[in-house]
Amino acid sequence: MTHVFPTYADASGRRFGAEEEEAAIRVLRSGHLWRVDGTEAPALEAEFAALMGMPHAVAAATGSAVIHCAIAALDLEPGDEVIVPPITDAGSVIGVLAQGLVPRFADLDPLTGCLTPETVEAAMTERTRAVVVVHLFGGAADVEGIVALCRPRGIRVVEDCAQAYLTVTTAGALVGTVGDIGCFSLQQSKHISAGDGGLLVTADAELARRAALFADKGWPRAGGDRTHLFLGLNYRMTELTAAVARVQLTRLADVVADRRAIASVWTEALARPGVHLATPVERHSYWLFPIVVDPDVVGGDNRALAQRISRSGLPVQAGYLQRVLYWTPMFTERRTFGTSGWPLTLAEGWSASCPVAERMVEQTLVTVGINENFTSEDVEVAAAALTGALDELAEGRP
Ligand SMILES: *Cc1c(COP(=O)(O)O)cnc(C)c1O
Repeated sequence: MTHVFPTYADASGRRFGAEEEEAAIRVLRSGHLWRVDGTEAPALEAEFAALMGMPHAVAAATGSAVIHCAIAALDLEPGDEVIVPPITDAGSVIGVLAQGLVPRFADLDPLTGCLTPETVEAAMTERTRAVVVVHLFGGAADVEGIVALCRPRGIRVVEDCAQAYLTVTTAGALVGTVGDIGCFSLQQSKHISAGDGGLLVTADAELARRAALFADKGWPRAGGDRTHLFLGLNYRMTELTAAVARVQLTRLADVVADRRAIASVWTEALARPGVHLATPVERHSYWLFPIVVDPDVVGGDNRALAQRISRSGLPVQAGYLQRVLYWTPMFTERRTFGTSGWPLTLAEGWSASCPVAERMVEQTLVTVGINENFTSEDVEVAAAALTGALDELAEGRP
């Protein structure tokens, strides 16, 4: 029996109300839709900085764009290396390649799917200059441990928090505030959205200045001089996007709280041997609800489990990705700049192998769609579908 669950793809799983409508109309009626000499984007930046307790925030066109701005702000040399995880959105690494830097894939914690201080250290070379830490699915990586490893070596830490608004580390910090720069996304599927959009925060005024310049052609407009201080792109956010995002920010705490409440029901229902769930619930923000299984104990792998869950109508993916990032043609065929293979050619014999990540995608990881607009009936139907699927697997039922 298939149930229809709210989805982020339409109004059923999004919280766009009268305030967003009013914000969009306000900007349209003003006749001023770009952020240059605008008010909405600067206000969004100030409000997000305040929410995060950080001195600086920069808005840009997408989550991938703010990660690119963050990487560009570090002002590294072509051929310098940036450690990245293999289970993530491509947005975590495309800015690295675009800046002529070499991504080094480090392996992951087998339960959280995040980089660890140990895997980061193992991937370091003499050319390592930065790490992109992804807080996967809304669960915090050990970013304090990674920063403690990197800072004495002069290695910068960029936090990719696109899936992790209001996620809290074990030390009690908001993710995005621990590394040098924290990056967030406002794309359709994230906790809050304006269709597309990105925000970064940093405590470093110079990094904030460079990131903002990079998003606007390296053009220091406030000075009144039409000049370009360095190569930048046009990644500007529009006033329409910013106005909607400002309202969405006011809904964020409720969205995350509602997701946690659902996750705590499922976490209790699914407690059994061979099933690892992300805990504690209060620190996670559940962009997705990840389940990591021990196939030998639960009686089947992630594909077998996902297939049984999917019969309920619940959105579910085995492995989250179909393949780890370094097995896409961007890397396997080095489809970067023409046929040059650049910048991967800057690191002799570049290759990637992360057996833990590969096993997660192929055998152990299942991600379940979770949404703040699930009714209590949706939550119960989903819990029954999840436990039922595990029972079927355990009993060897097809
Ligand atoms: C969504 C996402 C991005 C990219 O954000 P966009 O706004 O889609 O460009 C980057 N990293 C992670 C982990 C994401 O989930």
